[in-house]
Amino acid sequence: MSRSFNFSAGPAVMPDEVLQQAAAEMLDWHGSGMSVIEMSHRGKEFGQILYEAESDLRELLAVPSNFKLLFMQGGGLAENAIVPLNLSRGATADFVVSGSWSQKSMQEARKYCTVHEAANTSAKAHTSLPDPSTWQLSAQPAYVHICSNETINGVEFHELPDLQALGCQAPLVIDFSSHVASRPVDWSRVGLAFGGAQKNLGPAGLTLVVVREDLLGNALEACPSAFNYKTVADNQSMYNTPPTYSIYIAGLVFQWLKRQGGIQAIEARNMAKAELLYSAIDQSQLYVNKVAKNCRSRMNVPFYLRDELRNEAFLSGAKDRGLLQLKGHKSVGGMRASIYNAMTIEGVAALVAYMQDFEKTSA
Ligand SMILES: *Cc1c(COP(=O)(O)O)cnc(C)c1O
Repeated sequence: MSRSFNFSAGPAVMPDEVLQQAAAEMLDWHGSGMSVIEMSHRGKEFGQILYEAESDLRELLAVPSNFKLLFMQGGGLAENAIVPLNLSRGATADFVVSGSWSQKSMQEARKYCTVHEAANTSAKAHTSLPDPSTWQLSAQPAYVHICSNETINGVEFHELPDLQALGCQAPLVIDFSSHVASRPVDWSRVGLAFGGAQKNLGPAGLTLVVVREDLLGNALEACPSAFNYKTVADNQSMYNTPPTYSIYIAGLVFQWLKRQGGIQAIEARNMAKAELLYSAIDQSQLYVNKVAKNCRSRMNVPFYLRDELRNEAFLSGAKDRGLLQLKGHKSVGGMRASIYNAMTIEGVAALVAYMQDFEKTSA
């Protein structure tokens, strides 16, 4: 058996320790005589798994007590509909379009409410973020949506916008799918955060929603009951069967994060990894990253070879060294290295060493 370094954008790399623990517990979880997959979601064993996962995540992300933590299904894309169904009241929602994912969110919300584009960076190919003071917010939006880390374009809000300081009382909605748990969250600026699990938390199938209590209870009539945040919250994420195994694995990831020293420690490590990779790119003659330095993603690093004819050779040479899934998203081309929490500094160093060798031998 050999484990490669996996730079997939998602589903993505998991900590070895977590996979090993899951393997060891697969047939018999803690003497229960059952696999977690086989447990009733209403039984006391799974009840303990859910309780610990929730309380560990609440502690890690320092989620205030007036926020509900929901374990749902449907992924980030379903939330593009579920958020307007729950929060828009059919009125206007504002969107900052900073890349592919926020674009998709705005498109989907159109089905349920009026959408207003407060800013759009497509003219600059989504390589920078406009200062929030320049956003054209509507008069009284039901909420303002941003994607706080654009997975495809590699653009990250290093600081969340302070809507109140802009004179806007609306709740901020953030799609934090691809950088959740990679850094602390300033909850005083957030009304709702959502993210699919498969980037930084665990297996696909689990969707995390963190929502301020006062935003519950205004869903549109047409909102499916299983997607009504209030219904889900009132039933402790058990209105319907939650994605039990994905929650269990995410719970193991939360325990792993605590052993790493928590979110501050993982953030410091993520910054060191990103610095290592971006500076290698910036110092080379072959590779280029086009994103403005103040908003470069610490999780998803897209880059191009100045000679695109060498793309295939780059990818196959990488694979030979056990550096996997580096091909860029088809909509933007080039390469992308996703360096989520579970990617080790050794993995990033191995990538950088390969990039430098490849540049020398192909010059
Ligand atoms: C991956 C991703 C999504 C989509 O998630 P699905 O689980 O495929 O629906 C949405 N938003 C962002 C920022 C993502 O990275």
